[in-house]
Amino acid sequence: MLTFIKTDIAQKIYQLITELYPICRSITGNGFRETLKTIQQHIPLSIHEVPTGTEVFDWIVPKEWNIKDAYIKNSQGEKVVDFANSNLHVVNYSVPVHQKLSFEELKAHLFTLADYPNWIPYRTSYYEETWGFCLTHHQYLELNHEEYEVFIDSSLEPGHLSYGEYYIPGESADEVLISCHACHPSLCNDNLSGIAIATFIAKYLSQTTPKYSYRFLWIPGTIGSITWLALNEAKVNNIKHGLVLTCLGDAGNFTYKKSRRGDTEIDKIAAYVLKSSKQGYEIIDFFPYGYDERQYCSPGFNLAVGCLMRSPHNSFPEYHTSADDLNFVQPQYLAESFFICSSILDILNDNHIYYNQNPKCEPQLGRRGIYQTSNSHQDSKLNQMAILWVLNLSDGHHTLLDIAERSGISFDVIKYTADILSTYELLISENN
Ligand code: ZN
Repeated sequence: MLTFIKTDIAQKIYQLITELYPICRSITGNGFRETLKTIQQHIPLSIHEVPTGTEVFDWIVPKEWNIKDAYIKNSQGEKVVDFANSNLHVVNYSVPVHQKLSFEELKAHLFTLADYPNWIPYRTSYYEETWGFCLTHHQYLELNHEEYEVFIDSSLEPGHLSYGEYYIPGESADEVLISCHACHPSLCNDNLSGIAIATFIAKYLSQTTPKYSYRFLWIPGTIGSITWLALNEAKVNNIKHGLVLTCLGDAGNFTYKKSRRGDTEIDKIAAYVLKSSKQGYEIIDFFPYGYDERQYCSPGFNLAVGCLMRSPHNSFPEYHTSADDLNFVQPQYLAESFFICSSILDILNDNHIYYNQNPKCEPQLGRRGIYQTSNSHQDSKLNQMAILWVLNLSDGHHTLLDIAERSGISFDVIKYTADILSTYELLISENN
């Protein structure tokens, strides 16, 4: 289905990240909308607006934040920190401020990383109304004991929380949820990699009629998934599988974080795809921290949603700093992530359960000419074994993935074999 797309996907994903990189995103505001509008150039997603003050389970949709400019000027009137150079310089959700203050007073509002003196940290203050600046430790050390002028031209007012949603109808009303957070400003791996890969997976799936219906969400982290779940509770029962996508552009090995249930079909398929990829990887158990899987896997929903990453959040020093930039993510890693993700979705699409129509002893295959068909395929011996395995385990209990795992024969060969046996009416899919 998706895996045939090998062309210039790496560059396309990277190009979208490059376009989105300069935008100052937050959990609400125009940066988030601009991000969704940029994605709309690839897919016709819907932009939803939820008013400030809307109650969503135990939370309330916050005020909307927007920012135009910010700086710190020294006593000579020189800008020593300038939002125009990096949107990470302002603590995200800072309230407006314009005042003069001493270095001692200013210090309490400054954040740096002494261990990485060239990097700007990323800080937020969503639920406490305050202001602050983030700067490199080198910039900090150059500040003197003089008077400074701070200016943050922001607004924090009743408005909306925006999110993007794109639904692809499939053959079945059962859904696969693909979710990514889109609320971080200029941060590539943690944020833009998931956003861009979700966009291109959606784009290519939209050119097919998949077995499942697909629901893609580009949402602000935490409050976005809580808001969607609260406002769409009636649709939640349709979600049978899901993936949260994040941190997919770095050079690290793949990491799959299992759903809370831990033994769902998506968990098994992700493990199988990573094992088959012949690269280093890690499968980790669910824990109630991380990204929006925390909400999808809260006990009241307990959805079969896992999280696909390369290096997990907080496991790389560049995490939540200006070093998570356009160099930290690379096209070849993004493309690998796209193919791992699309392989998982391909298998999910094809992972049927079959019934052997001739279950009492083996059917006489030679009489039907099936051996000639299988011999024309590259590895005839393997395919004879594949035929015998598929016939034997198509008892209405084993999925094709179960048969692939049990036989040690690749999923592709098992699927190919099941298709041939179906054309000879030796198998029937449980979906028929
Ligand atoms: Zn983050």
